[in-house]
Amino acid sequence: MSKHPAPRGGLALRFWGVRGSTPVSGPDYLEFGGSTPCLEVTCGDRMVLIDAGTGLFNCGQHHRDALPKQVDLLFSHLHLDHVGGLPFFKPAVFDPERTITTYCGNLDGASAEATIDRLFAPPIFPVTLDVIPCTLRHRGFRAGESVTLDDGLRVDTLPLHHPQGSVGYRFEHGGRRLCVISDLEHTDPWPDPKLAEFVAGADLMVYDGMFTDCEYPRCKGWGHSTWQKGVELAKAAGVKALAIIHLHPAHSDATLRAMEAEMQAEMPTAFIARERQQVEVGSEIRPRRAEGRARPLKLARIA
Ligand SMILES: [Zn+2]
Ligand SMILES: [Zn+2]
Repeated sequence: MSKHPAPRGGLALRFWGVRGSTPVSGPDYLEFGGSTPCLEVTCGDRMVLIDAGTGLFNCGQHHRDALPKQVDLLFSHLHLDHVGGLPFFKPAVFDPERTITTYCGNLDGASAEATIDRLFAPPIFPVTLDVIPCTLRHRGFRAGESVTLDDGLRVDTLPLHHPQGSVGYRFEHGGRRLCVISDLEHTDPWPDPKLAEFVAGADLMVYDGMFTDCEYPRCKGWGHSTWQKGVELAKAAGVKALAIIHLHPAHSDATLRAMEAEMQAEMPTAFIARERQQVEVGSEIRPRRAEGRARPLKLARIA
């Protein structure tokens, strides 16, 4: 895993947390990691964060003072595994010169302010928002609307099927398209036509693969999907590469490696995301494979 910065100029993605529901640690989680969702998208030099799971801590530690003064944080939704890292986003939250703007699209236009206020409050957390040194601003929108960030960067959004709703995001930069689709549960019939249209032709789609098709019947209605449904959607929508996230906390490295091999037999450009993995959207990659059977993949590069 590299500490090199994202390549300049293109559309890139770094996975700071790929585990779903609860963080995990221990010898079974060394390869894929145990932090909950946090993604860093870079459009050229412009950084946007998606979700503030526990992976946000390592994002803050990695960039430290190199973080932009204005940090944009898009929430997929506000379940605990997607917001719990925000109080620990150091040093950003302790920097009086830094502004963090959050965007929330699953609350009928309301922002995340009231929810985040409840998170930064005793007895859950000792420090309240009014004494946090950074400036926190909160913006609400309705999933389905395009969101325009302060510098004009436009991000398209789509409502996703999940308890209390969730938001899918689409970035376009330098002729490349990246879609982040998590958390969601697939619907019947599948693929959902609106979702297929939203992700159509993406160079990379990040997708919620918490369960396998075999596990899913016991977990129906919990708001998550399977890698098999991700592959179906990708193939139907002409998506060129697929990254699976929101990994089940009980899925060990060995389980995930076996799952990835099975998935790549159906879609060679699909992979299960590793924490800290960096991908340049649209470039050729040679993925690291634990079994030593490395072979080139098209369309995304792991740095
Ligand atoms: Zn989640
Ligand atoms: Zn959720």
